[in-house]
Amino acid sequence: MRASAYPLVEVDEAADLVLDRTPILGVERVALAHSIGRVLAEDLAAPASLPAFPSSAVDGYAVRSSDAGKPLRVLGESAAGRPFAGTIAPGTAARILTGGVLPDGADCVVMVEEVQLDGEVVTTPAPLRPGSNFHRPGADVRAGERVVLAGTQLGAAEVGLAAAFGFPRLPVHRRPRVALLSTGDELVEVGDKPGRGQIVDSNRWALLAALREVGAEVRGLGIAPDEPEALRQLVVDALREVDVLVTSGGVSVGTHDLVKPLLESLGTVHVGRVKLKPGKPFTFATIPAPPSPRPGPPPEGGGDSHTSQEGGRGKLAFGLPGFPVSSLVTFEVFVRPALRKMQGFARLQRPMLPVRLAYDAPATADRTEYQRVTLRREGRELVAESTGSQSSSRLMSLAGAQALVRIPPGDQGIKAGTTVEAMILSLP
Ligand code: AMP
Ligand code: MG
Repeated sequence: MRASAYPLVEVDEAADLVLDRTPILGVERVALAHSIGRVLAEDLAAPASLPAFPSSAVDGYAVRSSDAGKPLRVLGESAAGRPFAGTIAPGTAARILTGGVLPDGADCVVMVEEVQLDGEVVTTPAPLRPGSNFHRPGADVRAGERVVLAGTQLGAAEVGLAAAFGFPRLPVHRRPRVALLSTGDELVEVGDKPGRGQIVDSNRWALLAALREVGAEVRGLGIAPDEPEALRQLVVDALREVDVLVTSGGVSVGTHDLVKPLLESLGTVHVGRVKLKPGKPFTFATIPAPPSPRPGPPPEGGGDSHTSQEGGRGKLAFGLPGFPVSSLVTFEVFVRPALRKMQGFARLQRPMLPVRLAYDAPATADRTEYQRVTLRREGRELVAESTGSQSSSRLMSLAGAQALVRIPPGDQGIKAGTTVEAMILSLP
């Protein structure tokens, strides 16, 4: 064992260091079907008004409000997609269905429940209000209005708006390509029976889930042994194909911890230790692009096209600690915001909210603790209960956790009843 040469960096400072060096990826135009869940790269402005024509909100009769109370001759019908061709002159009306165009001459629609019908003659109540029961052109959206802003994730309503305006493709940021690698001689694949002293590689699966959730395209590289040359070869090959490398294990100060020296030899290590529990050995490095960048592979989703080139861009490397909770907490704090920045998200961070502790929270002298808690509502407050033992090996402390409460460094700990800041994962 040797002492670490890396300074202990404050959590927020380390997070800023990561984001400062994280690029925003280029833009590709993808078919609507492929845009779902992606981040819009340019503001979407309405090319036309919605609705484009005066559109009936109900089934009824299109009339002139000045004819209120009079018997009116019904000239025809305006159904959705089948407009009435004529004009409503004084003393006449047209049957109209929801979504039908309000005929020329008419200035309101009377609901079918409110009229008296006698053959082809309809009598409306009096008085009638001009403008009632139809949607004016532009009532929903005016031409030129910005309907979806850049940085918005495209969900159901946004994709629906794009479709309503007739956009078959949308400009979205490219997804980050991430290589994922576990390190450690003790690891065996899921499904293989661990021998004495061996454990199943669970981090790769937990991190795969976390990476997918944030929108990354993941290339699984399997397990690297604690052997410098084998590890180097895997990493160098992977970096040719991806934007980001994520490893777990091999970043503490044991003699088998090879990730830091490797990253040091390939690029620049900006963070080598953080004042964070769990996750002190978290490592972040940048690696320059190879001298002659090869053209990237064709984009996914047949026919989608890149509109900007990002050749020559450097790569990010995250060396996460091996303990399962440490790897996931450092992912939340450092990797997730970076991957969101790469995709152009307007908001990078999970919401932070004050929560009241329902338990006495121990503190660590020199590090901020991110303790895993469940939440419940008491009146207007959120109350946090510990998920039990906070050992960094105990993945059960994260299963079902709804927030990570931030316990500042200190000798005393924090008493139940105190309000602290929490990173919210899901609200009760
Ligand atoms: P390390 O940071 O490599 O010293 O790993 C610390 C501890 O984390 C190891 O002793 C294992 O118990 C655990 N660990 C490392 N890698 C993994 C993994 N891929 N899956 C589950 N546990 C792991
Ligand atoms: Mg190891």
